[in-house]
Amino acid sequence: MSRFDQRDLATNPYGKCKDCDTSLATEDAASAHMKETRHAVWVLNPSRERNIERHVSFEIETALDDAFEGLYRLVDSGEVTSDEIEKALASSCYIDEEWRRYVENGQ
Ligand SMILES: [Zn+2]
Repeated sequence: MSRFDQRDLATNPYGKCKDCDTSLATEDAASAHMKETRHAVWVLNPSRERNIERHVSFEIETALDDAFEGLYRLVDSGEVTSDEIEKALASSCYIDEEWRRYVENGQ
C-alpha cells in the first residue's frame, strides 16, 4: 500500500457533506448526494488517481514558483519584458512531453 492509495472505503468513507454532515461512503454516493441536494462535500479519502493529481500539481506549482521568480528577476532588471517571457513560455512549455522524455532517457 502506498501513501497515494485510497484507504479502505468500508472503514474510511470517501467524504462528508459540508452542509448536512452526512457521511458518504463512495465517490458515487457523494456525486448522487451533491446532485440531489446541491450540497458541497469534503473529500476525506480520495481515489489514488486524485491523490497523485494533487501531488503532481503541488510539485509543479512549487517548481513553477521557482522558475517564475528567476524569470521575473530578468523583467525586474530590465533585460527582457514580461511579454517576451510570455511569448517564450508559450513555445516552450510541454510538461507532459518533457516528462515522457525524462522517463524514456532514464532521467
Ligand atoms: Zn448534504
